[in-house]
Amino acid sequence: MARKTLKLYGLQHLDILRHYRDISDRALHEFSVVGKVLPFRVNNYVLDELIDWSRPDEDPFYRLTMLDRRMLATSDFDAVERAMRNGAGATLADVAAAIRRRLNPHPANQMTTNVPLLNGSGVSGLQHKYAETCLVFPSSGQTCAAYCSFCFRWPQFVGDRSLRMATDESQRFVSYLREHKDVTDVLLTGGDPLIMRASVLRRYVEPLLGPETAHVTTIRIGTKMLGFWPYRFTTDDDADDLIRLLEEVVQSGRHLAIMMHISHPRELETPAARDAIRRLLAIGAVLRSQSPVVRGVNDDTQTWRELWTSEVRQGIFPYYMFVLRDTGPRAFFEVPLSRALDIYRGAVSQVSGLARSARGPIMSTDMGKISVDGVADFGGTRTFVLSYVQARDAEWVKRPFFARYDDTATWVDGLQPLTASDRMFLSRPEPRLARAHH
Ligand code: SF4
Repeated sequence: MARKTLKLYGLQHLDILRHYRDISDRALHEFSVVGKVLPFRVNNYVLDELIDWSRPDEDPFYRLTMLDRRMLATSDFDAVERAMRNGAGATLADVAAAIRRRLNPHPANQMTTNVPLLNGSGVSGLQHKYAETCLVFPSSGQTCAAYCSFCFRWPQFVGDRSLRMATDESQRFVSYLREHKDVTDVLLTGGDPLIMRASVLRRYVEPLLGPETAHVTTIRIGTKMLGFWPYRFTTDDDADDLIRLLEEVVQSGRHLAIMMHISHPRELETPAARDAIRRLLAIGAVLRSQSPVVRGVNDDTQTWRELWTSEVRQGIFPYYMFVLRDTGPRAFFEVPLSRALDIYRGAVSQVSGLARSARGPIMSTDMGKISVDGVADFGGTRTFVLSYVQARDAEWVKRPFFARYDDTATWVDGLQPLTASDRMFLSRPEPRLARAHH
């Protein structure tokens, strides 16, 4: 098979868009203004094989990866534009930094609440929120083959290292995991850990396969490579090394779960994606898919119905439909909870039982993963029925609770508890510096 080379394009390559569509100088300028605040990266696969250039403005992948002036408030857009005109670098950087701080760069208090301690100091690049699962952020995997403009990890991509979570070189996360026998699942995440060379990824995976971490029975890898660069699994120069490493996980008797971020069924249709799926299934990896509902990308029933149906046909388990997190340009992309629920119900009621493994819509919050289960009428009051799928307090899981129906609410902070006893399920926990070492 012919080898493809990944070509990355950032803000400095905006002119490349002229090869694909009619675009005015003004539109390119607006793009670059927004790009001073939010990250932008696209690649040759997304440009050549995903985006339908006959109608780019309606295309889900154009919407997913490109920038739009409506992502910034008008006053913020004007402030960046003014700073660019003045040509004062420091001022522009300050303006951009101030806007970023207002865009809630760390939703769910990730920088402070979930970092565990080992021998009294925080283990960088590790998050331990739920007892059985640890998240590892490999330092070389904190970027992606293209960027989703809505991404809740966007602060990692804008060059501010203080906003970035990543392991240090000493790999203390391995020592932490050796001591925590309650951890059964390790999720390597990013960014996209598969952006790393196979030889670098091996440094993270191999230590987990030994007898001291026999309690780690599942290794999950969160990735969007299938959608953004499927050649990672097939023709990249170290694709065979990567597949061999993944196969070693399976051979060690562990469950290897590739947690694929798949936004739209078209991602599964290219020949490269199909080859990649077949290759992963052949080594015994289990493929699961998850994605948020994003306005203009996949906010309709038909898209989810096709997505889940196509996934099942190709051997992927539908896993989560998420609600967009409360960060970044959410106002541009968000979908009301009531609408997300309608989309979920509409799609799930039209697919076979095998595709109904998808849970949703789910808000991943400080307190845990909240599922919007339905709408009910209590004595004339329309009410959201909610429950926790995962919670910091395991007692909360699968206990229904209620909030007043509001068709404009897009996140948990827009919900009013129905009664006093529902209040605790919706209030944020006290900030905790770290999970105790035990
Ligand atoms: S692939 Fe995932 S981590 Fe990367 S930009 Fe998209 S949503 Fe964010």
